Amino acid sequence: MYEVYALKYGERDTTTCQFFHREATHDKLTLHYFVWLILGGPKPILVDTGFKDDDARARGIRNYVSPATVVERVGVKAYEIPIAIITHLHYDHWAGHSLFPGAEFWVQQDEVAFWTGPWARYPAFNQSANVPTLADLVTLNYANRMRIFDGDREVAPGIRVYRVGGHTAGLQIVTVETDRGTVVLTSDASHFYRNVETRQPVQIITSLPEMLAAFETIDRLAGTGKLIVAGHDPLVADRFKTVESGVIKIA
Ligand SMILES: [Zn+2]
Repeated sequence: MYEVYALKYGERDTTTCQFFHREATHDKLTLHYFVWLILGGPKPILVDTGFKDDDARARGIRNYVSPATVVERVGVKAYEIPIAIITHLHYDHWAGHSLFPGAEFWVQQDEVAFWTGPWARYPAFNQSANVPTLADLVTLNYANRMRIFDGDREVAPGIRVYRVGGHTAGLQIVTVETDRGTVVLTSDASHFYRNVETRQPVQIITSLPEMLAAFETIDRLAGTGKLIVAGHDPLVADRFKTVESGVIKIA
């Protein structure tokens, strides 16, 4: 059976009005930045790659630790990871790809098409882009390190991805079968528990109906076990077991 870890690599403070859709209040809101690691199979499987120190400096991230370092805290060398599921191509999920030089990257076709297509350059979207690492998609593809596909897929027995879209064009979420039940890694289909639990969207959107439908998908996949891991919520550390600083064991 698999074990799932949320590994925190940074934090950033913002306000509720900057984040939730049509939110009027200005309360402080802290985002935590995670990569997730699935152990217990023949090889570790990473979910998202985080970003490197250039983005950490440029975007005012505090307590930044390289994602390559945080995976070592659970005994995994970054270069030994053969598969990285990429939930979407925002900088905080993709810009660290070169930290994982042995990985094949599993990403939705709609996501690649969006970031190489006509709308990505507009300010509504480009603030979430690390452009050189998006250009790397082409180089990596010709090096046979991209697994670009469309729709729901089994990555390994007991590990599945589901294309939900909404926040980005090809956002995918991940389920993992564990001793505790089905874990749902929502990534940015639900940045905070508040998103999925109150059906409140975030402000960065490619399809509002898809975003709302993704909340339904998360609940359906999680079932009664409710092992839902929100994408950027500090509450993940309270709802699951913190093993050491920045290392949260989900199951
Ligand atoms: Zn994110």
